[in-house]
Amino acid sequence: MCYLWEFSSHITHRTSHITTMKFYSTKHTAPATDLKEAVIRGLPADNGLYMPELIRPMEDGFFEAAKDMSFPEMAFQLANRLLEGTIESAALKEIVYDAVNFEAPVHFLDEDYACLELFHGPSFAFKDFGARFMARIMSHFVKGSTEKLYILVATSGDTGGAVAQGFLGTPGIEVIILYPSQKISELQEKQLTTLGQNITALEVKGTFDDCQALVKQAFLDEELRAQLRISSANSINIARLIPQAFYYLYAWTQAAKKGKDVVFCVPSGNFGNITAGLIAHKMGLPVKHFVAANNSNDVFTKYHQTNIFEARPSVKTLSNAMDVGNPSNLQRIQDLYQNDIEQIRTHMSAYSFNDEQTKEAMKELYNKYQYLACPHTAVGYLGMKSYFEEHGKGATGVFLGTAHPAKFLDIVEPTLDVKVDIPARLQVLMAREKEAELMPTDYETFRAYLMKLV
Ligand SMILES: *Cc1c(COP(=O)(O)O)cnc(C)c1O
Repeated sequence: MCYLWEFSSHITHRTSHITTMKFYSTKHTAPATDLKEAVIRGLPADNGLYMPELIRPMEDGFFEAAKDMSFPEMAFQLANRLLEGTIESAALKEIVYDAVNFEAPVHFLDEDYACLELFHGPSFAFKDFGARFMARIMSHFVKGSTEKLYILVATSGDTGGAVAQGFLGTPGIEVIILYPSQKISELQEKQLTTLGQNITALEVKGTFDDCQALVKQAFLDEELRAQLRISSANSINIARLIPQAFYYLYAWTQAAKKGKDVVFCVPSGNFGNITAGLIAHKMGLPVKHFVAANNSNDVFTKYHQTNIFEARPSVKTLSNAMDVGNPSNLQRIQDLYQNDIEQIRTHMSAYSFNDEQTKEAMKELYNKYQYLACPHTAVGYLGMKSYFEEHGKGATGVFLGTAHPAKFLDIVEPTLDVKVDIPARLQVLMAREKEAELMPTDYETFRAYLMKLV
């Protein structure tokens, strides 16, 4: 047995021939750190993002062999290679098998197009993969500590639901979710406010920016932090990124059976999802090309065209989970490709689409394939189409289905003039009573609330 790491991160993992792999900051000024600190801290002190120092390819023959593995098993093997020397293998296996406990089917529409359905988890969106894995790995790292870890999350809607579900019942961890009162959908609110156990919802009488400001202030409050152990479950946490690589592998094993090259198109906002695909590719996953599909928040598409990146305030669109004007994971993508736009273009294309086009795509998917897609997924389909138009067909085009259509009823139903079947699990949620504490936007009240937990 080799539990040495648990006691000292300075000792090299004896069963391994590589020394303890570190995580560096993409800004390169904060010190590199071990997995535990990268996960619990979330963000390096220099405001960069953590990345693994070493991304090694899988061993020869792995990808062929993976075609006969279960989803959790191939996911574990990928994670074990990437995280070798940072966490004990048996513990990692347990975490991965527990986190990856729902399907991610590739649904073929025809010979060319397929949708990778990532919405069969507890919150009906792909963020479940990241949230479930992060919750379990954090729980692993706080095991044995008598001090509780409080996770503070500000949400504009979707992230909160995935995080709440992901951490539900996780020992040693309490989750506090701040959401803007009356600015999220009823369904989103139910996802945050009806779970109970270790999940608490604070209904902030303000905007999402107010929620985020409160959380930020708490993190900057050294006096508070000396007494209360807090962490974030932000989408930029490396523990949320890594498990997203799993489903590219699983999707590839399903799509490659058709005997053609595989191209992935990812409806993108903060670019975490596609970054995970690029990491899987760096580990040898034989993907031909990646396509980033944006809505009208097209800063990445512009950057891809001009090599000039300009952040802009986000604009509201139908695919609102992608309304990001300054995608944080761009730093990681630039680091993966040595800041070389030509390398980025070699591996990735980028296209943007407006709301009108998004609605047309939803209609086309429905009329041509009888396929119900949420607006984000429809943007993914559009990106795949544009890629085929520019480069010709010949590959299997897998676009990522990032949310269940029933999560966006208010858009899907009027656009398609249909009634969407609501999954039973969502209906149960809708029937539950909301429980939330009202919170004004001033920091002092929020601080007093947190200090009572000490
Ligand atoms: C978060 C989200 C996205 C965007 O993913 P990124 O990793 O931020 O690029 C797309 N679709 C849905 C439904 C989402 O919730």
